[in-house]
Amino acid sequence: MKHSLSDGGSLLYLHGIEGSYIKETEVKVLGYENGGYILDKTILHYQGGGQPGDRGMLISGDLKIPIYNVRKKGKNVLHLSKVEAPIVRAKLVLDWERRYRIMKMHTLQHAISAVVFKTGFPSLVTEVFPGYGYIESDSSSIKVNGEGYTINKTARNVRRYEVKRDDLEPKLMARCNLDKLPKSVEEISVVEIEGLDSCACAGTHVKNTSEIGDYWLRTPGKRIEFGLF
Ligand SMILES: [Zn+2]
Repeated sequence: MKHSLSDGGSLLYLHGIEGSYIKETEVKVLGYENGGYILDKTILHYQGGGQPGDRGMLISGDLKIPIYNVRKKGKNVLHLSKVEAPIVRAKLVLDWERRYRIMKMHTLQHAISAVVFKTGFPSLVTEVFPGYGYIESDSSSIKVNGEGYTINKTARNVRRYEVKRDDLEPKLMARCNLDKLPKSVEEISVVEIEGLDSCACAGTHVKNTSEIGDYWLRTPGKRIEFGLF
């Protein structure tokens, strides 16, 4: 299975919206290089696409090896750790509390981007962190209407599905800046917020917007800033 902005079916967090909720899994350790473990599969999101890398732990016997970030280097996903150990099999555990905040933030970002896109402002740059995020547009007159403040109240379902590049709707192309996507990517992973938005994304998201909880939002200049309480 091919995914957008990533490779292989080994990124379990991209397997439907449920994939974002996998908190631990058994893995084979294929090697350690450039300061990181290479695994046969992972539940940890690697840094990129406006979302930070996850943190977690590899547990093998009595050994607990902290993973402080995940980065992609060439074809490899590196689970970065200062501790190098000759382990072959391990349990990979996600720092769920931190990740869940990122999932809420990333879903919130899609929703706010959709709301402002409807009033004529495309999101040019977006980035989310565990409790804070921003969207940059090219206009200082960017404003967020009431809908942008009630995303957590509308309880919209969120789902992920794969679509062939040739079958992409023009509407989706416009909202999500897909020109940047390499031509080699044939299957695109799309995240849909029911009745509000569809956007290609290889990040992690919550299943329903009601999970986001209370958040704040402000619009200084060409930016929208938002965060969780
Ligand atoms: Zn996303």
